[in-house]
Amino acid sequence: PASPWARITGQLRGRAASQVVHAVSDVTLQIDAGEVVGLVGESGCGKSTLGRLAAGLLAPSGGRVLWQGEDLAAMSDEAQRAARRALQLIFQDPFAALNPRMRVQQIIGEAPVVHGRIARGEQRAYVASWLARVGLGADALARYPHQFSGGQRARIGIARALAMEPQLLICDESVAALDVSVQAQVLTQLMQLQRELGLACLFISHDLAVIRHVSDRVAVMYLGRIVEQAPAAQLFAAPNHPYTQGLLAAAPTLQPGRRTFVAIQGELPSPLAPPAGCAFHPRCPHAMPRCRQQRPVLRAIAPDHWSACHLNDA
Ligand code: SF4
Ligand code: MG
Repeated sequence: PASPWARITGQLRGRAASQVVHAVSDVTLQIDAGEVVGLVGESGCGKSTLGRLAAGLLAPSGGRVLWQGEDLAAMSDEAQRAARRALQLIFQDPFAALNPRMRVQQIIGEAPVVHGRIARGEQRAYVASWLARVGLGADALARYPHQFSGGQRARIGIARALAMEPQLLICDESVAALDVSVQAQVLTQLMQLQRELGLACLFISHDLAVIRHVSDRVAVMYLGRIVEQAPAAQLFAAPNHPYTQGLLAAAPTLQPGRRTFVAIQGELPSPLAPPAGCAFHPRCPHAMPRCRQQRPVLRAIAPDHWSACHLNDA
């Protein structure tokens, strides 16, 4: 398939459409067909904002979101509609994301009918086939979200996104609310479907164990910027950026789950007013005088491995 496929460049600051968004600055992130890119960082670093940019739910205040080579903002209404369908976001909170007054058949089947993917008369069979693919029976069709467990609701959310037959799936902390064992089951099924369907995926998580499990390539975000990017195996074997090293040191990898980044000292500053120079300098054990003044740029330090740290300049 032709590249670049999906590419996000640019920035977004402040508030958009009455919701608070975390600033994203000078980001370039490319996702190739069929590829899973993991985006990791502490909560509040701008990951979700970047995910919403990628899904076309937010417009960048600078830069562009390219979908199959075309600028999302410059597309015709028709092309934009097609792109919206092709870019599906699985939301952070499956509990809040499902309308409690709608039956599952409608939750999953309404948008495909509205977008003309299927006829109304095909809805029931179509939804049942997607339910089967996420491991749920046809008995789910007539039930409401509150009648399901958290793991089942996550599966319904996945089926809803997949029923739009997307090409790029954006998963924002899609399993974070679930128990660890349920999380593993849902993740395994999601990634099996991703491979079967040949979907590209932007997988957003604060959890390195989850990111490691799913990603072909990983981007590490700190205060609205990508500070390191590499193939997953390379990143975990030889992390370059002190922030990535801190994340890895803080994350036990034996089991997925919520954890805090204890190996990194200090609080995450506001992405709207990041420290000067390298934004990580107040927390970095290797900070030098120039780190307070000069912002490091992403540089290739090995094939396909990029890092933004002055230590690489020596
Ligand atoms: Fe640390 Fe300086 Fe590298 Fe930033 S540029 S990560 S402060 S050594
Ligand atoms: Mg988030």
